[in-house]
Amino acid sequence: MSAGSALLNPMEAATGEPREAPLRDSLRDSYGRAITDLRVSVTDRCNYRCVYCRTGNDGAQYAELAIADYLRMIRLFVSLGIEKVRLTGGEPLLRAGLLDLVREVAQLRTVSGAPLDVALTTNGHLLADLAQPLKDAGLCRVTVSMDAVDAETFAAITRVPRSFERVLAGIRAATAAGLGPVKVNCVLLRGFNDSQIEAFAEFSRREGVIVRFIEWMPLEEPSADGIGRNWTREAVVTLDEIVSRLQAYRPLLELPPHAASETARRYTFDDGVGEIGIVAPVSRPFCGHCSRIRLTSDGKIRTCLFSQTEHDLQGKMLRGSSDLELRAYIKGIVDKKEARHHIGEPDFQKPSRSMVHIGG
Ligand code: SAM
Repeated sequence: MSAGSALLNPMEAATGEPREAPLRDSLRDSYGRAITDLRVSVTDRCNYRCVYCRTGNDGAQYAELAIADYLRMIRLFVSLGIEKVRLTGGEPLLRAGLLDLVREVAQLRTVSGAPLDVALTTNGHLLADLAQPLKDAGLCRVTVSMDAVDAETFAAITRVPRSFERVLAGIRAATAAGLGPVKVNCVLLRGFNDSQIEAFAEFSRREGVIVRFIEWMPLEEPSADGIGRNWTREAVVTLDEIVSRLQAYRPLLELPPHAASETARRYTFDDGVGEIGIVAPVSRPFCGHCSRIRLTSDGKIRTCLFSQTEHDLQGKMLRGSSDLELRAYIKGIVDKKEARHHIGEPDFQKPSRSMVHIGG
């Protein structure tokens, strides 16, 4: 250990990133990171077969739990300090009982008595009809994944005809229902949809949505048939490239982060119209500020997208553990959260599940 690293806290020493001192005692890992953000996958079925995510051949691989089981798990996490719950999948809008789950989760309060921040990530295909019911059930915000603003390119990515019109209608319905500001997530692949960067900037300005470009991570289903895409670092369109393309389109202004744990760098344009976020886990990892934990559709806890191991919360529940025992179990797991991911490093190992089966 160098003289300099002796002065760092364990997280700074592990990632090289500076950290703020923890504010209060809550669900906390061995590096001092407060875990406040829970992502729950409610199914690993999906009605899209996006080329960078899925092979196009494989379907769902894991079980779904009863809605009451997700609810019990979410309650446990919230009682331990979770402040934000994001429902995801697979495609969460395919899940029967979703509105009931949202209604119940929206009633929960954080340990400090504040309303829970309840969000949802969806491909938007079924959102036009569900946006208002979701809002009425208590959903706060929605993030829609949309990887092109050109209808033909979009259908080539999702492998579903006329999908663009459906998703656009979903985004507009979500905005109208008050689920905004709607975030629109776009994963860029070099030579495939990176021609869309400027068009997405226009889309943000025109539709009043926050467009977020996300660097592609090695989380795709393994593809032996060549139809899906195998991750390479060269295919990742990086934050620096996106920023310089946007600057050439129109001068950019960087916006301050909402919180230290915010994953996106935020920008607007010189006239203040439009907002762009860039999430750069590959070129600018933010593990030192990670506040996340995940529950898979079959009730396994994952402490990192790239975890090699999972923890069977559902199994513990089935064996009759009390809430007290389950809380202690969760705390023990959080304590062992990985320091960081190893994308692009020689020792990188693909995680035990791909994105669609973890819950993005
Ligand atoms: N079906 C929902 C949707 O499309 O938003 C929720 C699940 S999807 C797996 C969640 C997000 O993960 C999407 O925005 C998708 O683009 C993103 N995603 C999938 N594979 C990814 C990868 N390898 N790297 C980065 N993001 C990925």
